[in-house]
Amino acid sequence: NTPLHELDPDVAAAVDAELRRQQSTLEMIASENFAPVAVMEAQGSVLTNKYAEGYPGRRYYGGCEHVDVAEQIAIDRVKDLFGAEYANVQPHSGASANQAALFAIAQPGDTILGLDLAHGGHLTHGMRLNFSGKQFNVVAYHVDEAGLVDMAEVERLAKENHPKVIIAGWSAYPRQLDFAEFRRIADEVGAYLWVDMAHFAGLVAAGLHPNPVEYADVVTSTTHKTLGGPRGGIILAKKEFAKKLNSSVFPGFQGGPLEHVIAAKAVSFKVAASEEFKERQQRTVDGARILAERLVRDDVTQYGVSVLSGGTDVHLVLVDLRDSELDGQQAEDRLHEVGITVNRNAVPNDPRPPMVTSGLRIGTPALATRGFGTEDFTEVADIIAETLKPGFDAEALKARVTALADKHPLYPGLK
Ligand code: PLP
Repeated sequence: NTPLHELDPDVAAAVDAELRRQQSTLEMIASENFAPVAVMEAQGSVLTNKYAEGYPGRRYYGGCEHVDVAEQIAIDRVKDLFGAEYANVQPHSGASANQAALFAIAQPGDTILGLDLAHGGHLTHGMRLNFSGKQFNVVAYHVDEAGLVDMAEVERLAKENHPKVIIAGWSAYPRQLDFAEFRRIADEVGAYLWVDMAHFAGLVAAGLHPNPVEYADVVTSTTHKTLGGPRGGIILAKKEFAKKLNSSVFPGFQGGPLEHVIAAKAVSFKVAASEEFKERQQRTVDGARILAERLVRDDVTQYGVSVLSGGTDVHLVLVDLRDSELDGQQAEDRLHEVGITVNRNAVPNDPRPPMVTSGLRIGTPALATRGFGTEDFTEVADIIAETLKPGFDAEALKARVTALADKHPLYPGLK
């Protein structure tokens, strides 16, 4: 029963330093969030010790009576949250959920149609080095000049290539997708529609984004982005896919489920059904809109900085630096220097190499969880704008970041 600090001071020091980093900087990586203490408590519980291959009520191990309860709660809650007929809460991550989902509805060698990685898609939607790109015949659609998914191209490619699966979903896209149109196209060519809502699931849960479950055959998500839970994945679907999806997750790709993480997912689904969560997601979306608005003002755009698609409907903004002297790497480094964490991101038709890029992806979920409101996001936006201008004053901007971090303490009970 030796506590971590005594048993392993080296690892404890890294954990402590990470807590201090999270507390003292502004986390604006669009795929990140801060899990509630109760979620981390479930995740750090004795459920980590339990083997439970199988599903609630049908396990291959004894002693599963309590993990069965937690897993069934998670299943019931997430079905209610999104209005789904079926849910699987076992995928270890978003990529695992996607792998299991894709192999349940398609065979290696089948054609899949997804958003190009360089235009905002995810690795698992057909990137060359990913399982999806290696084992499937990938056709990619793109965004148009305005930065919006080109639905005419989706329809044309679907008719030309007859994909088995059409994938709607993204990792870096600032607008809502037209699920009804994707459904129409999928029906026209006899394809399955799979929506990967990993990024915007929290907005869907809060009713601030169309719900893909109403349109798609299969929906996958992570639980740790806007949804604000533990790191992990889920699969939702129509009932008819239940058997195939269950067997694809286990025994298809996974062994024992992480029951401690599943319990933590259950807690986060309870939180996601609350009024407080809705209000937080509203601040998330409002914050992103404020950020976009303040980055397209003349005093910023005169330095070649702009925002892809001209704004945002979701929790992130894509900053376009193609006309700026600053590249994505330099901009990311500058923001890091003032205490704001973001990631550089390739923009469509990026003239700079992938490790440098000409863009930034900036998200508001973590700061909204921290309590940031309109006034705070306005200040954050102005700090970012100043940082991206020539002759920025790192010390002064860092002091403004610290003032915001102090105003909204993170995990005040943790040391
Ligand atoms: N799907 C989308 C759209 C994502 O953006 C991500 C992660 O960034 C994933 C899936 C993969 O999630 P994970 O990192 O948990 O494997």
